[in-house]
Amino acid sequence: MNVESFNLDHRLVAAPYIRLADRKVLPHGDVISKFDVRFTQPNVAHLVMPTIHSLEHLFAEKSRDHSDRVIDFSPMGCQTGFYLIVQGDASFDEVAALVEATLTDILTATEVPAANDVQCGWGSNHTLEGAQAAAREFLGQRGEWDRVFA
Ligand code: ZN
Repeated sequence: MNVESFNLDHRLVAAPYIRLADRKVLPHGDVISKFDVRFTQPNVAHLVMPTIHSLEHLFAEKSRDHSDRVIDFSPMGCQTGFYLIVQGDASFDEVAALVEATLTDILTATEVPAANDVQCGWGSNHTLEGAQAAAREFLGQRGEWDRVFA
């Protein structure tokens, strides 16, 4: 199929993990890399929408304190993880370090950035506590992020 993740057997993966999902060379030679940052085991567990939403806001804002290569961090519709798109080629270690630093920041955040009706399309649909709990759990399994398959 056209979509990389549609060709991934989601029964075989072992969340949490970080996986290079796609690498594209643009017409002028620039490279972008897309990573599958999987928080929960597909078809077994998922994050609730306010948690996903607040993680999205927090990660989008705070990751850019650590890197100027972040293009996008977006939730998967299945609510089991996110896609992190970065400029250039990025090794697992580089991406893992960025994710670790960003999630560590999230643990001590005192508010969800832009969680209001001016800056967000559903400003009341947030939970700082939920995002911090998910970040804490993901960080607790840091040693397993490089293992994609069971
Ligand atoms: Zn929002």
